Amino acid sequence: HKWVYDFTEGNRELKDLLGGKGANLAEMTNLGLPVPPGFTITTEACQAYLASGTAPAELAEQITAHLTSLERAMGKRLGDPSDPLLVSVRSGAKFSMPGMMETVLNVGLNDASVTGLAAQAGGNERFAWDSYRRLIQMFGKTVCEVPGEEFEHALDGAKRAKGTTNDLDLDAADLRALVDTYKTIFRKHTGRDFPQTPREQLDLAIFAVFGSWNAERAVLYRRQERIPADLGTAVNVVAMVFGNLGPDSGTGVAFTRDPASGAQGIYGDYLANAQGEDVVAGIRSTVPLQELEKLDPRSYGELLGIMARLEEHYLDLCDIEFTIERGKLWMLQTRVGKRTAAAAFVIAGQLVDEGLIDLDEALHRVNGAQLAQLMFPRFRLEHDVAPLAAGIGASPGAAVGKVVFSAERAVELAGEGESVILVRRETSPDDLPGMIAAQGILTSRGGKTSHAAVVARGMGKTCVCGADALDVNVRSRQFTVDGQTVREGEVVSIDGTTGRIYRGEVPVSPSEVVRYFEGSLDATESGDPLVQAVHRIMAHADERRRLRVRTNADTGEDAARARRFGAEGIGLCRTEHMFLGDRRELVERLILARTDADRQEALAALLPLQRNDFVEIFREMDGQPVTVRLIDPPLHEFLPPLEELAVNVAVAQERGQDAAKEEALLTAVRRMHEQNPMLGLRGVRLGLVIPGLFAMQVRAIVEAAVACARDGQVARPEIMVPLVGAVQELETVRTEAEKIIAEVVGDSGVEVLVGTMIEVPRAALTAGQIAEAAEFFSFGTNDLTQMGWGFSRDDVEGAFFWRYLELGIFGISPFESIDRDGVGRLVRIATEEGRAARPGLKIGVCGEHGGDPESVHFFHEVGLDYVSCSPFRVPVARLEAGRAAI
Ligand code: PEP
Ligand code: MG
Repeated sequence: HKWVYDFTEGNRELKDLLGGKGANLAEMTNLGLPVPPGFTITTEACQAYLASGTAPAELAEQITAHLTSLERAMGKRLGDPSDPLLVSVRSGAKFSMPGMMETVLNVGLNDASVTGLAAQAGGNERFAWDSYRRLIQMFGKTVCEVPGEEFEHALDGAKRAKGTTNDLDLDAADLRALVDTYKTIFRKHTGRDFPQTPREQLDLAIFAVFGSWNAERAVLYRRQERIPADLGTAVNVVAMVFGNLGPDSGTGVAFTRDPASGAQGIYGDYLANAQGEDVVAGIRSTVPLQELEKLDPRSYGELLGIMARLEEHYLDLCDIEFTIERGKLWMLQTRVGKRTAAAAFVIAGQLVDEGLIDLDEALHRVNGAQLAQLMFPRFRLEHDVAPLAAGIGASPGAAVGKVVFSAERAVELAGEGESVILVRRETSPDDLPGMIAAQGILTSRGGKTSHAAVVARGMGKTCVCGADALDVNVRSRQFTVDGQTVREGEVVSIDGTTGRIYRGEVPVSPSEVVRYFEGSLDATESGDPLVQAVHRIMAHADERRRLRVRTNADTGEDAARARRFGAEGIGLCRTEHMFLGDRRELVERLILARTDADRQEALAALLPLQRNDFVEIFREMDGQPVTVRLIDPPLHEFLPPLEELAVNVAVAQERGQDAAKEEALLTAVRRMHEQNPMLGLRGVRLGLVIPGLFAMQVRAIVEAAVACARDGQVARPEIMVPLVGAVQELETVRTEAEKIIAEVVGDSGVEVLVGTMIEVPRAALTAGQIAEAAEFFSFGTNDLTQMGWGFSRDDVEGAFFWRYLELGIFGISPFESIDRDGVGRLVRIATEEGRAARPGLKIGVCGEHGGDPESVHFFHEVGLDYVSCSPFRVPVARLEAGRAAI
């Protein structure tokens, strides 16, 4: 089995096997770009190692073979005392997990080769000792779990002794002494000396990178990003090139376009005389990449050429990492870069304009989650409110919350339901839980490529970074800026687009994209590249999609908004929502009525109210289908709470008051009380038990439709029966409904369909029978999930889903995204058998899943006719339905 690939053997298609970094290093190698030679150990080797605890048998041999050819290519041997080859050992999974896994640089250095390295570098002893101390530090921390702070304290101590804060002021002797201190720390924690054999260093580093796949923060990141837990990481062993050889060396990162806005240009950070992770970690302040033009015009020119070449090759925004070693440029990484939601749309549009991709591809490159983000509200500043400070807008959004200074505190307060803004000088992977818990992230250091910025963008979380006017004091839990002090618990507002930070709470207003969808902003006139890109891509999605998109709406107002958002009808109007508020008493009277007369009275009072509701909705949806579901309340929602009532009665009796009415009510409520209301008298069951209820609703619906028709409008009612499990239930309701329909419709020309929800597993499994009596199906995936799994939808998410997610029993709550294998199977069966019994049967979905991007793809695959979701998710569903069709 082949476990190791040379860079010349791979290509970008092999991400599964070589990880993103390895595949792209191979791709760049094959493009003839200056990549240091190296090889990649596959993700399969990692999987095998993690499964069995030992490396696969042939791995060592294959590493030896590749190392030998690497040595040959470089003309040096690993750790050779007189002229050592050094290598970096870098993680690289299929999906980028910035900073989550490990990397060890300078492998091959030891007490002897450090001298050889100095000689190799023209007698640069400082460089050699600096490289050695970095190796011990990284190796100690990563491979042997030596607490990183110990090394950091020692480094700080050395700087303090020298009276400096800049590590560049430490000379060769200082660093040599520091190496001794580091070795002592290493020995203290590991009980052994720092390994001097280069090959042992290499092997241990490789296994440590394998192991870092399961580091806590990596596990957490994967869960957040929904990256499967079993992929494993590849390991790249690359010949070292040095950015810390002096002022003519350095290291940097760059984007071929602005990852925040999508604007074209040169974006990046450069740090002279520095190695590897210094830039990303924000250890020292970087300079904008443009400055490199002055420092090293030749490398700068070459870099720009390579960036253009990469864009042309990948047909997309690329981000890169590079190092300059004494004026020679080396490419250390590239990948299709992460970007903000806005940039994704803008760049996709630009690439279409540039003729590099077509509209299908543009549609493929954006997604519903990004669109949802663009619909977030923005800050509304009534007058010129002076910001407290400004940093770099690293990830857009408007976040308001209480300031906290540690991940722990963020998690704690968020757990109490507070919104928090996590403020740090810079973040590290250890801050991840706090970043997840926070509403927004604010740092005083680091640029657009800092850890905070990269991770926040990935999570779609608002982030302002590099606000260097802020003096953040984590220990005293406060920051000062411009003479003002902001303490833990005070509220700030941060704008991830402009980078501005405000004291107190700034009100928010709808985003441009929402204003565009609502029709108050014209795409062509606005001149806003984002709105124009959204307009164009949405139009293409609409052209491509086969699924129709309806909305769940119970009021005229919601219906109107959804229609502006592009809804093509209503897929679910929950009539029980129309019985709340003032009308609740009428329903209560109806449910508890003991005599026919009482019941008739309650129904007669409800009828006109219902009719008006429907008129309003039909008007807004003129010409579009409107699915009205007959009442489906869990009974307890309409009855006074039993305990409260019992207490009231007891109190009244105690006081000798006349409580006859309350007592009667209490008796009735007791009679109707249910242990499991969700599995009780609801939906069609209630309709069959309470005479006249469904009939009243059917009459109200049809009368409203006829009234609209008389006004010249087209009302297309679809009457839907909830919670059906057996065809007989539906038939009973239908027979009664048809009589009323025939009577009310008369010669108005109104067409009324009668159909059913499929939300009880039995209905899905007997869909063939049910279809005989139904003119349409609509999947109620909320109840289908509830009853399919036996999970109470109101209780379980907070109770134990965290554990299920942790154990990987599911990757996401099945109430959020359809469980394809189980509940999805019921959907498939019902669709197939329903259509077999009634060809052309119209089928949709109206559970929450109708607006979930992943689920929309599933419903497209199954062949449903439409999805229905809340008004705000209509654009997301349109986009995803388009994406599903290409
Ligand atoms: C469903 O069960 O998916 C559904 C749409 O109905 P409700 O959420 O009202 O129970
Ligand atoms: Mg339901």
